[in-house]
Order: sequence, then C-alpha cells, then structure tokens
Amino acid sequence: MGILEVKDVNKRFGGLKALSDVNLSVKENTVHAIIGPNGAGKSTLLNCLVGKLIPDTGSVMFDGQSVLGRKPYQINQMGISRVFQTPEIFGDLTVMENVMIPLLAKRDGAFRLHAFESVEDETDLRHEAETMLEEVKMLDKRNMHTASMSRGDKRRLEMAMCLIQKPKLLLLDEPTAGMARADTNNTIDLLKEIREKRSITMCIIEHDMHVVFSLADRITVLAQGTPLVEDEPQKIKGHPKVKEAYLGE
Ligand code: ADP
Ligand code: MG
Repeated sequence: MGILEVKDVNKRFGGLKALSDVNLSVKENTVHAIIGPNGAGKSTLLNCLVGKLIPDTGSVMFDGQSVLGRKPYQINQMGISRVFQTPEIFGDLTVMENVMIPLLAKRDGAFRLHAFESVEDETDLRHEAETMLEEVKMLDKRNMHTASMSRGDKRRLEMAMCLIQKPKLLLLDEPTAGMARADTNNTIDLLKEIREKRSITMCIIEHDMHVVFSLADRITVLAQGTPLVEDEPQKIKGHPKVKEAYLGE
C-alpha cells in the first residue's frame, strides 16, 4: 500500500474526459514523477488530490483515509501540501510573514496572520519560521518584500511555505516552469536536500526531463487522461509508448 492510492478516478469537463480510469500508487518516502504532454490531465489529477476538484467516480486515499468529501484546508491538515505552477505568495508581505501564514493556517485552518495566542506563541512561531528560512538559505532575506524577488527566490520561499507545515506528501506542479537553467538546478538541489533531511514523499509534475531524471524514483506517463506506463526512470527512457505520446506535441 502506498501513502497515496488513486483508484479508477474519472473526471469530465462537459464533453471532455480529462481523466479516464486513473490508477496511481505512490510509495512513502519516494519521489514519484507524473509526466505527459500538455493537456494530458496532470494538473487535473493534482487538483483531485487536494480537493480543488472532485472526481466524478473513483477513490483517493491518503495515509489510509479518503480525501474525497474533504475541503482543501482539511486535506492540507491531513498532511498534503502543494507547490503551484506559478508561485502563490503574498507580494505585499515580507518573506518572514509569508512563511508564518501556512503555519497559522495549518493550526487554525484559516489565514489569520494575527492569530497568535500569546506573546510566547508568537515568539515560538517566529523561531520556527526563522529555522525554516535558514534551511532554504533565505534567512538573510527575511525582511524583504517579495514582489521584487527573482523567480528562483519566490519558488524557494514557496517551498519553505509548504515545508513549514511538515507535510507527509508534497505535490509539485511544474516547479521549474519558466525558470532559467541556474534556477532550475538550484531547485533540483533544494529538492534533493529536502528529501535527504526529511522523511517526505513527493509527487512532481514536470516537463523538464533533466529535472525528472535527477529526482524521480518512479515515473508515471499520463496521456489523454490515462496512465500509459509506470516504471523506474531507466525503463521509461526510450520507451516506445512514451515516444508515441510525445510525438503529437
Ligand atoms: P496538463 O496539466 O496535463 O497540461 P490539465 O489537467 O490542465 O492538463 O488539462 C486536461 C484537459 O482538461 C485539457 O484538455 C484542459 O483543457 C481541460 N481542462 C482543465 N481544467 C478544465 C476546466 N476547469 N474546465 C474545462 N476544461 C478543463
Ligand atoms: Mg498542468
């Protein structure tokens, strides 16, 4: 049994079948990549895992419990955090404030920045946030406003915002999309560091094969809403079905 078990999931948007009988099993403490051409249904699948979309049929089990019927914040509290395709950070707030929000959100189930219970509570949370920023090497930027930061730094901050919640499963939707090579390599190194330091499972959607092959233990290839192949990276390289799926791109 994997920490994440997706069984026979189907999702339609009107006449379009975005997901057809999707089965996926992600083992604990592994990095599982989901690849596939544009429009294959990768983001739709991720949205079904975090409660942003509800599958028409099928089941999604995380850590032995069904996520279906739960609200996104409840699924987040179960231990799933997500990194979006475009960094979702608060431009008017500082780096430090951005990192504290998810900590409060996980505890209270709501974004209430002034929800400290006491001065000690605030000190504890600030300390936790600083430790997190140190881990992603952003402590020196803690008082910076985020609007002017580079894409790489924004991604790093967003990663910190996820990790501070100590998720059991981290979902990443194209974490290096639009990044220059140097920022992409930094992101790969950061993700490698994270998996060495923490016991964490990652499910990563990624277009950049360099990123996929640097990180993944298993790869699922999705095409037209259906998993085509699932295997270890070596076996996916050059797989005829995979080449075929990408030919139309
Ligand atoms: P991917 O992430 O693999 O590129 P998506 O999951 O975003 O693919 O999309 C799968 C298919 O579903 C595409 O054809 C897309 O246009 C369609 N789709 C995605 N979200 C919606 C939506 N909210 N409403 C209608 N169609 C959608
Ligand atoms: Mg997508």
